[in-house]
Amino acid sequence: MRCPAILLTVALATLLAPGAGAPVHRQGSRHKLLLVSFDGFRWNYDQDVDTPNLDAMARDGVKARYMTPAFVTMTSPCHFTLVTGKYIENHGVVHNMYYSTTSKVKLPYHATLGVQRWWDNGSVPIWITAQRQGLKTGSFFYPGGNVTYQGVAVTRSRKEGVLHNYKNETEWRANVDTVMAWFTEEDLDLVTLYFGEPDSTGHKYGPESRERKEMVQQVDRTVGYLRERIAHSHLTDSLNLIVTSDHGMTTVNKRAGDLVEFHKFPNFTFQDIEFELLDYGPNGMLLPKDGRLEKVYNALKDAHPKLHVYKQEEFPEAFHYANNPRITPLLMYSDLGYVIHGRVNVQFNNGEHGFDNNDMDMKTIFRAVGPSFQVGLEVEPFESIHVYELMCQLLGIVPEANDGHPGALRPMLRTESALLPDGGSALLPDGGSALLPSSQPLLMMGLLGTMILLSEVA
Ligand SMILES: [Zn+2]
Repeated sequence: MRCPAILLTVALATLLAPGAGAPVHRQGSRHKLLLVSFDGFRWNYDQDVDTPNLDAMARDGVKARYMTPAFVTMTSPCHFTLVTGKYIENHGVVHNMYYSTTSKVKLPYHATLGVQRWWDNGSVPIWITAQRQGLKTGSFFYPGGNVTYQGVAVTRSRKEGVLHNYKNETEWRANVDTVMAWFTEEDLDLVTLYFGEPDSTGHKYGPESRERKEMVQQVDRTVGYLRERIAHSHLTDSLNLIVTSDHGMTTVNKRAGDLVEFHKFPNFTFQDIEFELLDYGPNGMLLPKDGRLEKVYNALKDAHPKLHVYKQEEFPEAFHYANNPRITPLLMYSDLGYVIHGRVNVQFNNGEHGFDNNDMDMKTIFRAVGPSFQVGLEVEPFESIHVYELMCQLLGIVPEANDGHPGALRPMLRTESALLPDGGSALLPDGGSALLPSSQPLLMMGLLGTMILLSEVA
């Protein structure tokens, strides 16, 4: 999928990358960081709605043309990629639902938010890494922020109730106020703040609906309120703000004559299946009974032109999804607009996500503003795996091993001296950077980042 230029870039970046476990050099205070996610905000939702506050944010900071989420384009997996910098097969949160092929337990999204072993499976997200390096962090409704990792909890954490109303604008403002107090009164350094819209409205009414457009206006008002509260809290010059999302949304072909329905496939029977995870948008996983894998695979591989069924080891590597022990022997996805129905049809959403992350409808937004970011800069699209490295640079912490590249998003930033509030003190005696624990020239890293940004346009 990638052109030779990016392979060269990756190779160079690997050669130049600082060694793991390099000591942290920090001096003076640092900027704070607020990562805000509006679930399911498709990359072009601002193009058919008046969004004065998002427009102002772009003028005052950096806007990506769009951001490519990880595959599967599902809420919890993609949010965990943002805070770990890892593709989904490498961080292990492979689905919104906790499931066990042995116990057959399947838990819905909200219950899964509290299942520690689902999240704490080897990767350490940025909250914990930052805390280990002396910072204080918070998570407000952000997926993955409510459990402990290797025994460590996020400093301040809020989890929504199971029947939470995700669209209450009054509550949104109260949540923003709470986060501002975390920064000003409790001196937190990093907070991740999650809103469940416009995802819910996009599912219910469809991405082209009047209701979705109204919800985008509510999101825009909230961005305006957020920036107003940042200014009121005297944080404009000390806090970097990133507004992004997990995936896009597309219209479901509910009345198509060729729905993907397992119960109508002639050579397939659920009697051959030990465990199934179907009826979840365009994604599915199957564990056939002992000795029946080939039979099930042969029954499904050409069962429907919109359905793509693979053995785990043959799933396209470019998705960076299937190489994880939690993935079942057979997995599948369907084409844009088609969801996968299992034993009976139970999916009635007008909008859906989970599709191929190369589909434009799955692309999402990235905006950033603050003392470390350039002003009025629009950058080319990039993959969401790179946001983690950017956040570590902004916070001046040493990242965990991840799939992003340290220089990929550096062109968004002002000069190195702008990264820390006390300017020149960021420079170490040896001339290295406080943010890159390495003596590699920043120019080189900047060039690498530019190359990556350019090479991913294609
Ligand atoms: Zn989502």
